[in-house]
Amino acid sequence: MNVYDSARMADVLAPLGFCPVDSAEGADLVILNTCHIREKASEKVFSELGRLKPLKDRDGTMLAVAGCVAQAEGEAILARAPYVDVVLGPQAYHRLPELVARAARGAGTALDTDFPVDVKFDHLPAPATAQGVSAFLTVQEGCDKFCTFCVVPYTRGAEYSREPASVEAEARALVANGAVELTLLGQNVNAYHGRDETGAEIGLGALMRRLSRIDGLKRLRYTTSHPRDMDADLIAAHADTPAVMPYVHLPVQSGSDRILDAMNRGHTAEQYRDLVRRLRSARPDIALSSDFIVGFPGETDADFEATMALVAEIGFAAAYSFKYSPRPGTPAALIAAQVPEAVQDARLQRLQALLRDQQDAFNRALIGKTVPVLYAREGRHAGQLVGKTPWLQPVHAHASNAAAGQILETRILALAPNSLAGEICDTRFDSAERRSA
Ligand code: SAH
Ligand code: SF4
Repeated sequence: MNVYDSARMADVLAPLGFCPVDSAEGADLVILNTCHIREKASEKVFSELGRLKPLKDRDGTMLAVAGCVAQAEGEAILARAPYVDVVLGPQAYHRLPELVARAARGAGTALDTDFPVDVKFDHLPAPATAQGVSAFLTVQEGCDKFCTFCVVPYTRGAEYSREPASVEAEARALVANGAVELTLLGQNVNAYHGRDETGAEIGLGALMRRLSRIDGLKRLRYTTSHPRDMDADLIAAHADTPAVMPYVHLPVQSGSDRILDAMNRGHTAEQYRDLVRRLRSARPDIALSSDFIVGFPGETDADFEATMALVAEIGFAAAYSFKYSPRPGTPAALIAAQVPEAVQDARLQRLQALLRDQQDAFNRALIGKTVPVLYAREGRHAGQLVGKTPWLQPVHAHASNAAAGQILETRILALAPNSLAGEICDTRFDSAERRSA
């Protein structure tokens, strides 16, 4: 979502004459768009600010901190880095032009961490910053679920869904700018419930069916989903709407009911297993990825083994796993029984080894198969393009630039370190290098 937000910040700043550049060196304004989800992410902001300060001293570069660290630690930023010009929360970036202008007048740090009653999406221009073949689109923001470990409800605010008409207009603009694939975003994207033009409430499944009718839009994805909001209609959309990709990121966090309860996740491990069964029966080739937290306060060896058992049983195509990180102001940070770091480390290593094996097996299973790959950008080597399978695996193949933005049947040849090596089954897209070889 920060990638999306950054693109929208570029859009609101464009009328002031700003355009994105590749390096902080020589820029007029540097915006750090920040994440507060874990302590590590949040600490990076202060070290990065220290690195940028000499630029400000030398060239007068303006510095801004945006995103969830700004929201949660605005005052701390003012105290620790008073040279920062603008501090603005994720709900305020439509007011960036005004804040930048105020800071440019030398009126001190401009701080805006309100949750405005007016809605930022109504104030944003149509997306103009090119996101390329695969683009993000925020449809839902915020969260009312209050998992006991999580800062999101405090930094991103209450749950909010955009109206389908506004989502569709933005989707059309992105497709007109070259997008072939859209990933719909939200902290709880499947809690989406927008009101359409007739006043009817529609969920994420219906929203995707509506977007799938846009000419030129070939692939739809969504992230991040919460197991509690995975309704029958969304599951059905995977079966009845070809544009909806057979891939779901569905965080489970833990396989232990006791821990799930302490986390306030609102479901059991068995309910999660049942959801996976329903998704697989709707779309047999569906792949799942997930998020895990190890070492949540009070997690015993038995709780952790329950997580390992759940992973072994389900089989994930990819996953993100983290050590529990106590976040200020969240209930879990106050639980006395914090798990020692060494125990967390050992558990994380075991879990990640299992998840890595599963990811490896999932990728290996594709060797020798022919699959549709959406090619997006140039690869590291000349005459090479990189694309994605329906299951989000990166594939590189020799191809001319004409293949960018195309979905091409590709034979998977081998497993490469961070991607799959493929061969496009259509000689019209051969690269010059390959034709002359
Ligand atoms: N809304 C999504 C997740 C959003 S946060 C959901 O409910 O599943 C993204 C991921 O960060 C979470 O799934 C969780 O695994 C991780 N995370 C969040 N808070 C954390 C914390 N305090 N410590 C460690 N990991 C955390
Ligand atoms: Fe955080 Fe997700 Fe829980 Fe909301 S549902 S509190 S975003 S982990």
